[in-house]
Amino acid sequence: MNSLRRAYLKRREQLRKAMFAAGPACTGADADLFTAPDVFEPEPDSVRQDREAAAKRICSTCPARSQCLAYALDIRPSEGVWAGLSVGEIRALSLWPVADHVEQEVA
Ligand code: SF4
Repeated sequence: MNSLRRAYLKRREQLRKAMFAAGPACTGADADLFTAPDVFEPEPDSVRQDREAAAKRICSTCPARSQCLAYALDIRPSEGVWAGLSVGEIRALSLWPVADHVEQEVA
């Protein structure tokens, strides 16, 4: 592993630790609220909207929201609600190309 890769992974770990240290409001919450269902179980739009709205309500009270956004911008999640935003909304904030998904993490 080269030094740039090590530095990148170290920074990512620091972002993750900062998020957890800030006391995420989703700790102990139903994780299914924050993630899409299994790829083999399609989620109707109305169900997804309700689920994401419920997750976003939890995020709106979260003291770790800014740390969560920093982490999400770094890991480029493909699914989930992060910092009160859907993945599509996070993509719109960032400059990542749509096809540039290097991680598959979910909240
Ligand atoms: S902002 Fe939302 S997804 Fe992020 S840590 Fe807080 S509750 Fe969890």
